[in-house]
Amino acid sequence: MNASQENHLSTKEFISRKQFLKAASLLTVGAVSGVTAACQSTGQSPSYPVPTRSSFDTPTGQKISTSPPYSPPAEVPTDVSQPIELEVWKSDVDRKSAPTPTPLPLNQRIGYAVVGLGHLSLDEILPALSSCKRSRVAALVSGNVDKMRKVAQQYGVKESSCYTYQTYDQLKDNPEVQIIYIVLPNSMHAEYTIRGAQAGKHILCEKPMANSSAECQAMIDACQKANRKLMIAYRIHYEPFNQYIRKKIQANEYGKPKFVDAFNCQSSANPRHWRHIKALAGGGALPDIGLYCLNTTRFLLGEEPIEVSAYVYSDPENPLFSEVEEVCSWQMKFPSGVMVNCATHYNVHDSRKYRVMTERGWYELDNAYAYTGQKLTTSRADGEIVRQETVSIVPKNQFAAEMDYFSQCVQDNRAPYSSGEEGLQDQRIMEAIYQSARQNRPVKLPLIEKKDAFRGPIPPELQA
Ligand code: NAD
Repeated sequence: MNASQENHLSTKEFISRKQFLKAASLLTVGAVSGVTAACQSTGQSPSYPVPTRSSFDTPTGQKISTSPPYSPPAEVPTDVSQPIELEVWKSDVDRKSAPTPTPLPLNQRIGYAVVGLGHLSLDEILPALSSCKRSRVAALVSGNVDKMRKVAQQYGVKESSCYTYQTYDQLKDNPEVQIIYIVLPNSMHAEYTIRGAQAGKHILCEKPMANSSAECQAMIDACQKANRKLMIAYRIHYEPFNQYIRKKIQANEYGKPKFVDAFNCQSSANPRHWRHIKALAGGGALPDIGLYCLNTTRFLLGEEPIEVSAYVYSDPENPLFSEVEEVCSWQMKFPSGVMVNCATHYNVHDSRKYRVMTERGWYELDNAYAYTGQKLTTSRADGEIVRQETVSIVPKNQFAAEMDYFSQCVQDNRAPYSSGEEGLQDQRIMEAIYQSARQNRPVKLPLIEKKDAFRGPIPPELQA
């Protein structure tokens, strides 16, 4: 029997595991070679073949053992968004497998134009788009035509859907593009967001949102005027470990949060790269990676700081940091009394971690802001013992999760959680941090009493 003769079952014909076991038990397990006939829809429980040993003749006349083709029962919902359920084989002693992926047919996915083909686009965003459920790459924008042609071939983008910065506005005539993803140096986020909204497209913009709060406000205004959605790419909001910790903290599971210690540090090179040029980057370690400590803390606590106190330093001998800061350390005071200590550095080996200390325990996340490799430890007292636990969660591709979330916002006409106002609030706080460092004094921020004041509706994964 060849593959085409395999016993396929239509949607209506699938049988349950119980039926399968019953049917299988009626068959004699023996050394019968071959399989029974293909399963037909007879209205009765189909008879399933007992897979037994069989043999196959190779072109050189050798007999090798094989197994007859056979499809175990699977539940195949007609709704394309529901996962196929395969026959269970693992016991519930082990962690439950995630449901099988449910990618929508390509023509039902939201088309993205990816603008800027640098490290983030090539290393993460384009590969992630290939594994999305609701999103697909539909267009590219780059100043390097050779690079764009190659990337277009790699990801199956039509030549007619490749644009330069000069032809960018022509995206308005491309109905396959609904969302523009801005992955450019920070100084270009405002212009390309505004032009993109004017072209009638929704905008996903990389962090930091822009280089000043005035630019952020202009981006929000332009998207509102064009009636287009604007989301800032805070992937941590869609990352399962950080989501888990936020839910625990919001539920005060180990008592109220009291103190947070957070740092995000890495090492940079190449003084000519835009990240070391103030006009392009807006700043150094703070807006690039320190922003994760700031935004994630606000996300976990759900409240806004009322005061910041900061210190900034650059080694005067190091040409990398002649324009932007090498290190920034800052403290934030929150209305509930939570104190937060943050640091970011551009000249040390990778270190990305936070610990949230609560009345009766703590949560510590290592590799907290990394693309992969999160390690969560929790601690709490339990009578005479202290319980320290390692929590393991099935990881998700953060970029795919973030893009699919935004695609769903567009499909369902919902406001995104990681809104433009959220990006603007981070920018205001970073401006206060720089002011504090410059003036060597604490800087007060307006009291915001509302919880999660700047974010859109809470996604299902974050609900209690
Ligand atoms: P990159 O330097 O690797 O790529 C930037 C690309 O922008 C370049 O390749 C080029 O194609 C284009 N570009 C257009 N005009 C340019 C100019 N004047 N100078 C330099 N490049 C120009 O940068 P990246 O690491 O891909 O970062 C792009 C954006 O993504 C930044 O805003 C950054 O903060 C953000 N980012 C976010 C994450 C995340 O995890 N969300 C990670 C890395 C970067």
